[in-house]
Amino acid sequence: MQIQLHKLLSLELCYTILRELRWEDGISCPHCSGTSVSKMGKMTATHSASVMCVKLVYSFDDLTSTIFLRSHYPLTTWITALYLMNLNVSNAQIGAELDISPSSASNLCSHIREGVVQKKLLYCLAEKLNLTNVIS
Ligand SMILES: [Zn+2]
Repeated sequence: MQIQLHKLLSLELCYTILRELRWEDGISCPHCSGTSVSKMGKMTATHSASVMCVKLVYSFDDLTSTIFLRSHYPLTTWITALYLMNLNVSNAQIGAELDISPSSASNLCSHIREGVVQKKLLYCLAEKLNLTNVIS
């Protein structure tokens, strides 16, 4: 029996990590950095509630302006891939761990690298998690 790391992570834990890292100084608008926001709806452990920027009248959530937005992979897959990339694990090994093809793993890792370069990955989640191998 092979234990797959991503199956040990809960979506709830991943959202908790993401929220703590992204909003450590409180929720702010990803476009204007304004902190005058109002929550719309209930934020649950596995789903983001929308937040409205009062200044721009713009709604956003935990995933806005991140590479995770509109992804068909759950957050657990992304966080596991990020962790494995930091261990210098090959795309084939990452694919095996995540139960996806090596080419899909390669695409996932490319998106993470591009996201880090473009500073869209949770405003450098990798940097905050001290995953230096991913961003070097
Ligand atoms: Zn705003």
